[in-house]
Amino acid sequence: MIFPCDKCGICCNHINEIPELHLYDLGNGRCIHLTDNNLCDIYETRPDICNVEVMYMKKFCFDMSEDEYIKANVAGCNALKQKYKE
Ligand code: SF4
Ligand code: SF4
Repeated sequence: MIFPCDKCGICCNHINEIPELHLYDLGNGRCIHLTDNNLCDIYETRPDICNVEVMYMKKFCFDMSEDEYIKANVAGCNALKQKYKE
């Protein structure tokens, strides 16, 4: 699976609407594990909800193809970028 993440960091800067990550929220929506250069400092052990491949294998593979799943994720990224563009 190749998910074209450009490491913009927008998703990790707006985790306040993701219940699974509420313990990671600095209080302003930014994840405590996001570094200054938009990388995850626990990348190898990040929660499942942050891992596109794991989420597909555990949950979404029963409902859609890998291509459909990647397209849906890209659409989600684009929606976030539009919502939070500066
Ligand atoms: S919003 Fe999408 S492209 Fe940007 S860092 Fe998150 S997953 Fe990657
Ligand atoms: S744990 Fe890592 S991938 Fe998940 S929101 Fe925080 S910085 Fe992003």
